Amino acid sequence: MDNRGRERDYRADFPIFRQNRPLIYLDNAATSQRPACVLEAERDFYEKQNANPMRGLYELGLEATDCYENARKRVQRFLHAGKAEEIIFTRNTTEALNLVAYSYGVSHLRPGDEILVSIMEHHSNLLPWQMVAARTGAVLKFLECSPDGRLTQERIRGAFTPRTRLAAVTQVSNVFGRVNPIREITRIAHEQGAVVVVDAAQSAPHIPIDVCGLDVDFLAFSGHKLLAPMGIGVLYGKEELLQAMPPFLTGGEMIERVGRYDAVYAPLPHKFEAGTVNAGGAAALGSAIDYLEQIGFQALREREDSLTALALEHMKEIPGVHVLGSEDAGEHCGILTFTVDEVHPHDVASILDADHIAVRAGHHCAQPLMDYLKVPSAVRASIAFYNTEEEIRAFTESLSQVRRKMGYGE
Ligand code: PMP
Repeated sequence: MDNRGRERDYRADFPIFRQNRPLIYLDNAATSQRPACVLEAERDFYEKQNANPMRGLYELGLEATDCYENARKRVQRFLHAGKAEEIIFTRNTTEALNLVAYSYGVSHLRPGDEILVSIMEHHSNLLPWQMVAARTGAVLKFLECSPDGRLTQERIRGAFTPRTRLAAVTQVSNVFGRVNPIREITRIAHEQGAVVVVDAAQSAPHIPIDVCGLDVDFLAFSGHKLLAPMGIGVLYGKEELLQAMPPFLTGGEMIERVGRYDAVYAPLPHKFEAGTVNAGGAAALGSAIDYLEQIGFQALREREDSLTALALEHMKEIPGVHVLGSEDAGEHCGILTFTVDEVHPHDVASILDADHIAVRAGHHCAQPLMDYLKVPSAVRASIAFYNTEEEIRAFTESLSQVRRKMGYGE
């Protein structure tokens, strides 16, 4: 355990908690809060380097380009990617996954090919593949999980066939919080000649990612869940795959030369970054990564796990409360999705909100998973390293009152 990590007051770094309003923010899986250094990095770009990157041949324009490209190199190191050209900036995870679906999926898949999608995918990693299947005649197949959210060896082996061409899997489910065995999946997929698309929206904020070690073909994440602003996201893709793909969006900045009737596209990564880019967001994402790595993933994880363990221990004692997924707090990445007997999740969220506790209630954009679990709707509390033990206690105390407030026994 990194003791520096334990002693530091992380909350002091986050301006939102300095406001004079009560707020226990437990919706970190929906979007994180942002530390001052990240907000300053974005502001710094606009105050000191603002020009349209890759366009101006004057000093400020070159500085703006450097700032943007340095952020790309920062993300490359964060993901342990081989080359900066393999990092494409997008708006978010959803756009990154759609890029792969429209560009790779539509042009590579044929009738009868199989697309394997896990049952626990967020709609953002399901609908693009439904679209590809509808357009190409490929068949969508599902990799089922156990009721507690485990993707077992047998299930993985059994789901791949020689016709599987692409597998789309989340590294961490936004409902269960468990880390899926991505290395195992890429090994089996590659034996069958399939590519693997990983949704890292919920994993990137919690665990170190090594795209080469995992041998993933594509991987996407959103800046806004990782302390960075909304509107900046990342797609990693293996160079040889990206090279062979047509552009997703076309227009300015993604070209080398344009004639009346045709165009030569720019090399990677710019081929996939049409139009003016979000350079301020990219700079801020670089700063967010610096901030996280300075704390260190180990310290971060230990802190999140200990807060999650505290919450889970108290939740298990509250009659009528049922947590989805593992019994082990270390297998949640801070995500605790639960139901309360006889009380609608929206009522649970409203009662918690009356105590200034922010949680999410609904289907969590994972309706096929909720159908499989026969849980139409649930509440999700998601914990970050800047939450405190007092906040967790206030949450479980408020939760313990929910059934009584709704007129049911304890
Ligand atoms: N995948 C997962 C697992 C998510 O939790 C989310 C965000 N809820 C997304 C994808 C979509 O992220 P975004 O809205 O930033 O594109």
